[in-house]
Amino acid sequence: MDVIRMNIRMVLLQHGYKNVQITTVLSPAWTTDWMTEAGKQKLEDYGIAPPNLKQQVCNTQLFAEDEAVQCPHCGSYNTRRISEFGSTACKAQYQCNACHEPFDYFKCH
Ligand SMILES: [Zn+2]
Repeated sequence: MDVIRMNIRMVLLQHGYKNVQITTVLSPAWTTDWMTEAGKQKLEDYGIAPPNLKQQVCNTQLFAEDEAVQCPHCGSYNTRRISEFGSTACKAQYQCNACHEPFDYFKCH
């Protein structure tokens, strides 16, 4: 959060804004339900499987085994979870059984 705030402040200062005040709002808590389709597409384009790309309902059960996660590289659903957590706590580490590429999955929360 501190790095995000610092990066926002630096970009605004570089673009000529002098008095920058950044307000962090923690309530209501952000959920992946707020993620736009454009945002999900950007995650996928970056190589991160967005939460439930094809499914209509998020599985909110922690570490659910039955969640079908689509590989952001080749589109296969033949994937397996390697770790409950990926590069951040809100992501899980997956590997595609078709193209063998590892990828992060942005978990529903
Ligand atoms: Zn793949």
